[in-house]
Amino acid sequence: MSEEKSLHFLEEIIEDDLKAGKYQSILTRFPPEPNGYLHIGHAKSICLNFGLGIKYGGKTNLRFDDTNPVTEETEYVESIKDDIRWLGFEWANEFYASDYFSNLYEYALVLIKKGLAYVDDLTSEEIAHLKGTPTEPGKDSPYRNRSVEENLTLFTAMKEGKYKDGEKVLRAKINMAHVNMLMRDPIIYRIKHAHHHRTGDAWCIYPMYDFAHGQSDSIEHITHSICTLEFVPHRELYDWCIENLEIFPSHQYEFARLNMTYTVMSKRKLLQLVNENFVSGWDDPRMPTLSGFRRKGYTPGSIRNFCDKIGVAKRENMIDISLLEFCLREELNASALRVMAVLEPVKLIIDNYEAGKTEIMISENGPDESMGTREVPFSKELWIEKEDFMEVPVKKWFRLAPGAMVRLKSAYIVKCESFDKDAAGHITAIHCTYLPESRSGADTSGIHVKGTIHWVSAAHAVNAEVRLYDRLFKSENPAAEEGDFKEHINPDSLHIITDAKLEPSLTTATPDHRYQFLRKGYFCVDKDSTADKPVFNRTVTLKDTWVKEAKRY
Ligand code: ATP
Ligand code: MG
Repeated sequence: MSEEKSLHFLEEIIEDDLKAGKYQSILTRFPPEPNGYLHIGHAKSICLNFGLGIKYGGKTNLRFDDTNPVTEETEYVESIKDDIRWLGFEWANEFYASDYFSNLYEYALVLIKKGLAYVDDLTSEEIAHLKGTPTEPGKDSPYRNRSVEENLTLFTAMKEGKYKDGEKVLRAKINMAHVNMLMRDPIIYRIKHAHHHRTGDAWCIYPMYDFAHGQSDSIEHITHSICTLEFVPHRELYDWCIENLEIFPSHQYEFARLNMTYTVMSKRKLLQLVNENFVSGWDDPRMPTLSGFRRKGYTPGSIRNFCDKIGVAKRENMIDISLLEFCLREELNASALRVMAVLEPVKLIIDNYEAGKTEIMISENGPDESMGTREVPFSKELWIEKEDFMEVPVKKWFRLAPGAMVRLKSAYIVKCESFDKDAAGHITAIHCTYLPESRSGADTSGIHVKGTIHWVSAAHAVNAEVRLYDRLFKSENPAAEEGDFKEHINPDSLHIITDAKLEPSLTTATPDHRYQFLRKGYFCVDKDSTADKPVFNRTVTLKDTWVKEAKRY
């Protein structure tokens, strides 16, 4: 059961609209431009749009906003669909703004015939120059008063490819002195002799965002068109087009975009990271993309939960990435399979244990009994973490040290008797004796030790590569720093361990499972993994410093 939460402003608007009988049911849309992979900011928009559709028994369309032929690619379309499905949502219809190119062209003709649009021969620089400033009105273009007939002829010629890129544009005829600069005769069509990923070379004129988005909403009968705050000034033009074209009145509503610490969130910047090889690709586990998070081992549930927790606001803010990690830990703590893996191995030899003998220990798979148990082989020579031994222990050290005792998880109590060092002074082996009567589950030793450490039997260990990730940026808000955001990249964001030792149950690890390497963190199988060389990613560390903060949301 989800906890009782007050309605956010969009839910209030929708409930009022439904109560007033304005709509029988609602229809929202998620409108990505296929010019990159989706990031965690898009997840917020997806959860919001699809979530409202589900909550109010309505529907949600997926509409690719593909009106810019130059930056769009089919690879992106496929990745976007994969990511939305992975997040757990299904769209009612898959549409493309480019499907509406003919409708939009007809709409342009309607405006021309109404005397509300004209062909302008000025260059983009000249148009910008005449636009005025927020405090000064703009000036009319000398082509503003062309006749309807002349405009129809010229616009048709634009469509037929008679002009070069930039030679002419179509502008809405609104008001060059309007307080909203976007209403000062905005360009609504431009010439671009470019190949489009869906329409090929059928068109050489393309509608601008403001002449495509609202009309596409209207064609689909979208009731609530939800976008981010930067579109507030566009709303007036959105409404102007719908009103003057006399088409279905979709309405635009704006909410604050998600900004998150220690990352960048614009596709343009993410593309630079990929193209300039700062990361291995869009799905590099350090990327804030959904494919990056997925590869790193994030669950769709944790991302949905995060989007729910941050809520929907009308004011921009910066969310700490630790909150996302908190949501992830909450889920993984309850569901990840517990296993033992040694990341920085050193040998532990049990001098009084029979050589060549193997015992099968029983270890719990998780905190919940329903997760069951598994068998873990135990023998004379084990791997343990280097950091679990101290030659000269500090105060309150409960792990291994000369003369000290610890429990080996799910196995025996051992006592450290001595250790070996190589010429360079590195510890090469730790010698222990074990208490045969201290076996877990049947312990009659009467001895209580404070420390328990994990281990892997050396004879049974699986060698693996383990990739430990840290934040990709050193700065909390790299995009806001002076200079290039890439100067703030963390040079130590990836640490690769090539000789980790895993318990043998992990030979059958699959990418759909998450694992807690006891005391080390949460891990998952990476797509680079092979039978010969397993590769694991650290999804998130165990440590949780965010609980208190998270309660604020
Ligand atoms: P970017 O600036 O990262 O390229 P965009 O807004 O250009 O993002 P679109 O593909 O146009 O990307 O976005 C699709 C939808 O997702 C839009 O409705 C947009 O408002 C929303 N969206 C994009 N970024 C965020 C974000 N950080 N938080 C919430 N919603 C977002
Ligand atoms: Mg966009």
